[in-house]
Amino acid sequence: MESLGNARNTIEILQKYNFRLQKKFGQNFLIDNNILEKIIDAAQVTQEDCVLEIGPGIGTMTRCLAERAKKVVAVEIDKNLIPILQETLMDHPNVTVVHSDILKVDINHIVEEENGGRPIKVVANLPYYITTPIIMALFENHIAIQSITIMVQKEVADRMQAGPGSKDYGALSLAVQYYAKPEVITKVPASCFMPKPNVDSTVIRLTKYEKPPVEVKSEAYLFAVIRASFNQRRKTLVNGLVNADKLGVNKEKIIEILGQMGLPPAMRGEALTLAQFAELSNALCS
Ligand code: SAM
Repeated sequence: MESLGNARNTIEILQKYNFRLQKKFGQNFLIDNNILEKIIDAAQVTQEDCVLEIGPGIGTMTRCLAERAKKVVAVEIDKNLIPILQETLMDHPNVTVVHSDILKVDINHIVEEENGGRPIKVVANLPYYITTPIIMALFENHIAIQSITIMVQKEVADRMQAGPGSKDYGALSLAVQYYAKPEVITKVPASCFMPKPNVDSTVIRLTKYEKPPVEVKSEAYLFAVIRASFNQRRKTLVNGLVNADKLGVNKEKIIEILGQMGLPPAMRGEALTLAQFAELSNALCS
């Protein structure tokens, strides 16, 4: 079967099924074979791998994944795409299409059923309206994953990679860098999609660490500290933390700990490294 990664074949299949694009599902289909190949290469998929694809659309990337992987599980929310996928994936018996919202699927169950609990690879051209919840769900639910290779909005990729002092640095940067090593693969112009999105995109690979780079007493507490520190960006770190009721800390204690860490009381959250957040969180929760 011919590749779907071009405008002509994509339009043909959409017209055949009289498919109406749904903006609310972030449907921007990839119509560029070069980018498609770059994503698949970056994901380093082999015959040993079970791949989870989020949002297969009309199956453009799914077919390429199926040719390289042992097994592909593709989760698609839009019921109108299911008959299309049945046709486009007809020749690929190693693909299972699940009609569901990825945020409601028990991914641990999929990993158990399809890969005997061994780590899977996630590959996706993500729907941009829920990029962060999807990434956070994959990490926070401790799903057995080797890597996540995804197309995201350029600004989101910038945030994932940012370090202290950068305007892009925030809770997402720290969460991603706690769990994984981010690497930008390629930038992707809007012209590679149909319809064209209003933003540029980036393919980024997040390679999951076997063990996070810092040790914390409680991950939940670390992320509560991080969220509180960035909630009120213009405030000092101390004020952000005091205002977060569930942390249960007072001003004097925070200033004392910052002092022990060699940091001034007027410190701002955006200047702290992941290692410093871990140290602060460990001291505050003990
Ligand atoms: N993979 C296709 C491609 O590269 O051409 C489509 C990518 S398109 C940016 C995002 C896809 O995710 C759409 O097919 C959309 O219907 C699907 N989607 C949106 N929200 C979803 C959700 N919550 N769960 C599963 N799929 C979703």
